[in-house]
Amino acid sequence: MRLIILGPSGAGKGTQAKRIADYFGMRHVSTGDILREEIRRETELGKSVEDLIDSGNLVDDEIMIPLVDNFIKEDNFILDGFPRTLNQALALDEICRKHNTPLDLALLVDVPDGVIVERITGRKACPKCGAVFHKTFFPPKKEGVCDNCRTPLIQREDDTHETVERRLLIYHELTEPIVQYYEEKNLLSRVNGLGDANEINNNLKNVIHVVRVPRIPYMPE
Ligand code: AMP
Repeated sequence: MRLIILGPSGAGKGTQAKRIADYFGMRHVSTGDILREEIRRETELGKSVEDLIDSGNLVDDEIMIPLVDNFIKEDNFILDGFPRTLNQALALDEICRKHNTPLDLALLVDVPDGVIVERITGRKACPKCGAVFHKTFFPPKKEGVCDNCRTPLIQREDDTHETVERRLLIYHELTEPIVQYYEEKNLLSRVNGLGDANEINNNLKNVIHVVRVPRIPYMPE
């Protein structure tokens, strides 16, 4: 199956995408994770995108499109964080056509802006193992320290109030038109992203199970 998962940063799509990938045996392709790994390894690409990410802006399509092309050659994936612009959605259609791997479904995790701000600005991450905690919703056992590896937790630079507001603005302006794009292609399913993570996960799985029943696949013209 070939899925994409849409929604603003902080909607919980990363966590949900990982769980879906494990459950259905798909590859989880997160463009945010790929870019953060490049930054961690201090590659040329990492250095060129670090400031953009920290300030909540988007990385250029010229970088993102070939990057994704390399990661979705297989037949089973859930793409998280891409597409983020209409141009990227069109490019994804082109990539799918090239690899003969039509998209099956676009999942949208719906969460209001106010909740996103609260969730993200309270987030603390482990710089060593990548675990993410939240001061209210998922606090570490010992304040300020990672449960897994005991490393002091940090606030990611792109998790500040200012950056979150910027990301939301960009989401509404540039990413939201994609929702309509997939809706018109009859590929979109909305899932409420508020409440218990297990319940949200079950709702997402149910939607995917329905689509797994064989049907005529979508192939861009
Ligand atoms: P995420 O973890 O998906 O929230 O992504 C973190 C950051 O990486 C975003 O705020 C963007 O700066 C950058 N990024 C990730 N995916 C894309 C994309 N498809 N297009 C442009 N920038 C991206």
